[in-house]
Amino acid sequence: MTSSEALQLEARKAALLNAIRHGGKAETGAVIGRLLGAHPELRQKAAEVRTLVAGVLDQVNTMSLADQEKVIQQNWPEELAKEKPKTERGLPPLANVDKYPKIVTRFSPNPDSVLHLGNARAVILSHDYARKYSGKFILRFEDTDPRLKKAALQFYDLIRTDLRWLECAWDEEYCQSDRLELYYQYAEELIRKGDAYVCECASEDFKQLIESGRACPCRALTPEENLTRWKGMLEGEYDEGEVVLRVKTELDHPNPAVRDWPALRVIDPVKYPHPRVGSKYRVWPLYNMACGVDDHLMGISHVIRGKEHLTNMERQKYLYKHLGWTYPDAIHYGRLHLVGMDLSKSKMMRALEEGTYSDLSDPRLGTLMALRRRGITPQAIRGVVYEVGPRPVDATISWENVYAANRKIIDPTARRFFFVDRPVVVTISGVKSSRTVKIPAHPEHPEMGARELTIVAQDGTCHLLLSKADLGILKPGTVVRLMELFNMKVVQASESVTAEFQSETYAEARKVNAPLVHWLPEEHNCKATVVMPTAERIDGLGEPDLTQCHVDEVIQLVRFGFGRVDAVAQDSIGIYFAHQ
Ligand SMILES: [Zn+2]
Repeated sequence: MTSSEALQLEARKAALLNAIRHGGKAETGAVIGRLLGAHPELRQKAAEVRTLVAGVLDQVNTMSLADQEKVIQQNWPEELAKEKPKTERGLPPLANVDKYPKIVTRFSPNPDSVLHLGNARAVILSHDYARKYSGKFILRFEDTDPRLKKAALQFYDLIRTDLRWLECAWDEEYCQSDRLELYYQYAEELIRKGDAYVCECASEDFKQLIESGRACPCRALTPEENLTRWKGMLEGEYDEGEVVLRVKTELDHPNPAVRDWPALRVIDPVKYPHPRVGSKYRVWPLYNMACGVDDHLMGISHVIRGKEHLTNMERQKYLYKHLGWTYPDAIHYGRLHLVGMDLSKSKMMRALEEGTYSDLSDPRLGTLMALRRRGITPQAIRGVVYEVGPRPVDATISWENVYAANRKIIDPTARRFFFVDRPVVVTISGVKSSRTVKIPAHPEHPEMGARELTIVAQDGTCHLLLSKADLGILKPGTVVRLMELFNMKVVQASESVTAEFQSETYAEARKVNAPLVHWLPEEHNCKATVVMPTAERIDGLGEPDLTQCHVDEVIQLVRFGFGRVDAVAQDSIGIYFAHQ
């Protein structure tokens, strides 16, 4: 099959699919859009594509809807299945889906740090919307500021790990630092068309002029003069801060910050080498130039991001107008206030350098690395993101929201263990013999097995370990239920704690409203350390079976809380606390 025949067939398929979605009549624009989306190289041959599509539509649009469906069923049955709308767990539909051949979204982090909980919204919404519409999700590293927001190699990979963990696999990946020639190409096009100029004014002078709606002298230069300056920029005739390429806007735009915005500038390549491309480039695009060009070239249909980007959209729309492009649909969701979480990236990176935090997974941080380490699940984060969704109103979430969502997910599968922090010894008399008790790993799931604890009685006495935190309920005369063991009556609880055997059953304990406490045999246990969200380390002892856990397992320490197993050795375990 020649490529023109293949294209003809593809156009027919696109036309038929579009037709059945629109009552039997395909739309020219949508079919062309789908072809250009699948084959960006055809963008230069738009006229030929238009002729081809017109011919195909003449034929397809005379068919009945039933015939159209029959042809698809015969040739592309898998496409019919895709047409059935999948409800992606409560995401509201995207606007203008039919305008695009394919829904394409992107997540575009700066690899100067790892992702934090606040980023999860952009990642999950962008990814899940692409999946909801069988579209494409792009990961784009925005690494074009080697001076102030310098990328570091390790973060590219750590961000990829974060995305995989969030179950947001991407279909394509780009680094803007690979694409500088492209930005240069469009910069030159803008200059040639008189839509951009190279400004040599001191920034203070420019600011004064532009704030009163006046042009700086550079704006009136001819494209030729600007091209000469531009060449000078690329060839090193200007130092950092001496020059900037500006995209023209209305001089009286209501927001002065939009007026003739800066698109590319010089960064000293020796002083500020880039971690990926070294000192190869001295002219770097600013955010709106790189992002604007890429969103178009990558065929992004829906940009999903916070409303702090509204002004950037204003700026980029000028770029699109100058270059004859159509701006994608943009969804600007409201601010997310994360109560009790300080998510400022710069503050965090500074504190890290100063040694305040051990590393980026320090439990005090709101990074995904830290949440992961503590046993917060990606499903819980997705649940919280869906709660706030893409709505434009501001929302507030707290740690408690995250914990509640996580608890629901981990509680049914977390094995239970006793952990006694700051242990105190209790001597219990009246215990006739040693015994081994079998305790279910999960009270509601017997199929998860059981663990065994053995207490040793000698001359009618045994020694158990109780948590220091429980000393408060160990008043003389009080009956206490030792969970899954027996009931004891406290005799004395001053310097040392002594008690006597009271009765066997839980029913007897309930009759006297006995408080329940967990315990460990003094003879059989393992060392256990729990790292709390405050980074405090709590040393204690745990059941011997804890050392059979595997790293990453999420468990529940009875009456203490959930946590993730971080390290296991022969006779000790390290746990990161998640929540109660
Ligand atoms: Zn100027």
